[in-house]
Amino acid sequence: MNVYIHVASGGFEHEVWELTRVFFPGWPVKVLDDVPAEGDNSGGKADGHKGLLIVVEYTCSDFEVVAKSYLKDGSGKVLFGSQRSQKLDESTRRSYLKQKREIKKVLCQCVYDVLSEFTGKHPHWGILTGVRPLKVVHHLMDDGLSDEEVLGVLKSEYYVRDDKASLLVETAKNQRDVIKSASADTVSLYIHIPFCTTRCLYCSFPSVVMDGCGGMVDAYIDSLVAELERVVSVLLQKGVVIQSLYMGGGTPTALAYPQLERLLSAVDLLLDGRHIDEYTVECGRPDTLDLDKLSLLKAFGVNRISINPQTMNQETLVRIGRRHTVEQVISRFHMARYIGFDCINMDVIVGLPGEGVPHMEKTMEAIAALQPDNLTVHTLAVKRASRLKESLDKYPLTSDDTAEKMLEVCQRWVKEMGLVPYYLYRQKYMVGNLENVGYTKPGKACIYNIQMMGEKQTIWAFGAGAVSKVYFAENDCIQRVPNVKDVKEYMERLDEMVQRKMRFIDDCKGGIENDL
Ligand code: SF4
Repeated sequence: MNVYIHVASGGFEHEVWELTRVFFPGWPVKVLDDVPAEGDNSGGKADGHKGLLIVVEYTCSDFEVVAKSYLKDGSGKVLFGSQRSQKLDESTRRSYLKQKREIKKVLCQCVYDVLSEFTGKHPHWGILTGVRPLKVVHHLMDDGLSDEEVLGVLKSEYYVRDDKASLLVETAKNQRDVIKSASADTVSLYIHIPFCTTRCLYCSFPSVVMDGCGGMVDAYIDSLVAELERVVSVLLQKGVVIQSLYMGGGTPTALAYPQLERLLSAVDLLLDGRHIDEYTVECGRPDTLDLDKLSLLKAFGVNRISINPQTMNQETLVRIGRRHTVEQVISRFHMARYIGFDCINMDVIVGLPGEGVPHMEKTMEAIAALQPDNLTVHTLAVKRASRLKESLDKYPLTSDDTAEKMLEVCQRWVKEMGLVPYYLYRQKYMVGNLENVGYTKPGKACIYNIQMMGEKQTIWAFGAGAVSKVYFAENDCIQRVPNVKDVKEYMERLDEMVQRKMRFIDDCKGGIENDL
């Protein structure tokens, strides 16, 4: 059956659509632009069959937001209805962005009411469906609310479950100093290497498998270095301070030693001895690492690396298409410590095909023995562009219940390891509607991850598919400036990619509104 949405007053369709999907995972959810005739839930000529229809409307005066929602069945009969209102305080009346946030909240409360009544579900993230639920927490903290008050609002107004609300508040507190350290003069840089040795089953990134790439990698490094030289030199001339630099992918260390050396030395030359608080290189696959490459990274000032096992179960590594072994994860980790890296991140994924609670226990026990400084616990997201999406019959998904139990295993282990949450984000199509959380030893939180998710600092991004985000403090908003995704096209259109950035560097006057 289909679920249709019609926002009679216009706007916020995406937010209502996102929330509806949480209640009806896997169901087709469609937005109707036109007002359906009484009793007609057919979705128009293009789609003849009937379904559930959610109608939402709102009004916003100077003093109050009022929203209503109705859930109708295929015959047009109203099954459930809800009405909510919210008085606007002085500061909200004066701020367009705050008003918009209030409208969205009240509207989503109404939708949540009727869908919760109909399905009997109470999603643990409540009406927070966006990628960055921490933004709401920071807005509340900026308004001067205490931790207890923020918790209360998250639970009573955003319907967030107790444990998730506590996680949000703790994470926000652990990252707040870094977010506040962003100023108009500071930026972070992201350098993208779109190459990997094999393609993971769940991967949805436009990464290129290196086998048979021929001279493409060398040509790509040429273009990447040219883009960096042309843009970063101008930024530095303007007195911009680079707070963090993150080289990700793909797998940067999948580059051959001379290619990696060429890129690192070009960056080094550009920075010309300037201090950067944090310089991360994602090493991803341990089979791309050896003593020489690790020493090279260290010699060029890299002070944070990421070695990502995803799981410490060998049969799962084979199943998900990673060529490395569990032993390689352990040996490369020790090698990196030997070289002197004192900030190492590891990534694990909850809900990998074929895994359950015992697998998670085994993974976390092995990770705890290594004592990484950062640990990022992802939950599997089944993306459209992944091989996994195409082969769900072969790799059935972990149940929501099991995924949650696996996450509990991780949470127990991170506590034992003395790690605290420092960044958090959510994605579409995550198993169990869960979350991704970065944990850290105290004092070792990754600056780049916080700034990138916090969206209070400009991030200049280089390479194919890299998306720069320009922050406009006066409107508290960002504008995305994307590079084209295709590697060949990126190289061919390099001038255009540089010009896109230059327009903002030369003339930072506009912007688009930020999401919640
Ligand atoms: S390592 Fe990352 S980018 Fe590379 S194939 Fe796997 S998921 Fe994709």
